[in-house]
Amino acid sequence: MKTVQVDIFQKCYEFTEADAARHDGLYPFFRPIEGYSGARVISQGRELIMAGSNNYLGLSLDARVREAAINAVKQYGASCSGSRFMNGTLKLHEELEERLAHFVGREAALCFTTGYQTNLGAISALTGRGEHVLTDKLNHASIMDGIFLSIGMNHQVNVHRYKHNNIEQLLQILESLPPDQPKLLVTDGVFSMEGDIARLPQLRELARRYGARVYLDEAHAIGVVGATGRGTLEHYDDRSLADLVMCTFSKSFGSIGGFIAGESVIIDYIKHFARPLIFSASMPPSNLAAVMKSLEIIEDEPERVTRLQQIADRMRREFTRLGFDIGTSETAVIPLIIGDTQKTFRFWKYLYENGVYVNPVVSPAVPPNRALIRTSYMAIHEDPDLDRLLEVAEAGGKAIGII
Ligand code: PMP
Repeated sequence: MKTVQVDIFQKCYEFTEADAARHDGLYPFFRPIEGYSGARVISQGRELIMAGSNNYLGLSLDARVREAAINAVKQYGASCSGSRFMNGTLKLHEELEERLAHFVGREAALCFTTGYQTNLGAISALTGRGEHVLTDKLNHASIMDGIFLSIGMNHQVNVHRYKHNNIEQLLQILESLPPDQPKLLVTDGVFSMEGDIARLPQLRELARRYGARVYLDEAHAIGVVGATGRGTLEHYDDRSLADLVMCTFSKSFGSIGGFIAGESVIIDYIKHFARPLIFSASMPPSNLAAVMKSLEIIEDEPERVTRLQQIADRMRREFTRLGFDIGTSETAVIPLIIGDTQKTFRFWKYLYENGVYVNPVVSPAVPPNRALIRTSYMAIHEDPDLDRLLEVAEAGGKAIGII
């Protein structure tokens, strides 16, 4: 008997959810932005208040950052056309790495082309057979993908996911593992959807007790928390709470790329074993120069961080007063937790139609009954826009039965 052939594309022809949502006008994804003007964007020909960007300090739009990027293109060209390992290392990479290491108070730093690749490369390089990774369930996907890459490389690392910020469960897991098997504890500093901060002192204490190293992802923390924007370690006023500090350039640094910083020996090891570094082209000159300028501005103008923190404090207070559920947020990432997916899409549409740009987040990015609207703030937001945003959110929240 002959078995029927099945086309590998069949699942694509049968995937209709996105089209159905488009048809109902409730499809919020891949919506192109046509232009920027301060904290506003143009979308479908209309100006909207942007409350869904990770450009926390507004630096991607800063005239000095733009100028630095333009000059780097003029001087070095538009691409490095190769991996860091080969022809893709510029003096600029090394200069930036030195400055970043200094900024986070570590011996050395290493830049990758995206934040995602940084986690993929560093985690897969550091973890292997007979070793353990302990990871918060709400850590960013790139951390989990770093573990998957490690497994894919046949490293057979053991993965333990503990409930969000749950020290008790982490303790139980650590207690159950053999002391002689190496362990890496990975956590976001500020969690990307919840906007809360890792309980780092407690995590560090457990890690010390059970011989685990601590890997801290500062993507949403640098520029956002800590008195001068140096992130979670500054927030807790203790640099020794992490062994490795990772961050992306796509948020507070207003560009794209990422870095990992720590002891020189560890960074050198990662340099030689991180496949996403070795097999992908390096960060281009324009981005290197943009990050360098942003770093200078972050160091020179801490008032941007202060302004962002004041805005975030106010917005958390106001949303709570209006009756929204903002979960455990304590930063400039403020989720409006709705639960029901359809209601979330309707609320998103209401906001969009009334001049507010935000991002809906639904399963599988969050658990099935925890659909939310992720709002986030920038130091360049102006008060009248924030007032308007709150007004629209209140009206929409009432109309849709959220508050
Ligand atoms: N880590 C965290 C916590 C993130 O939120 C993100 C991106 N959202 C990344 C890493 C990946 O960074 P990038 O988008 O710059 O690749």
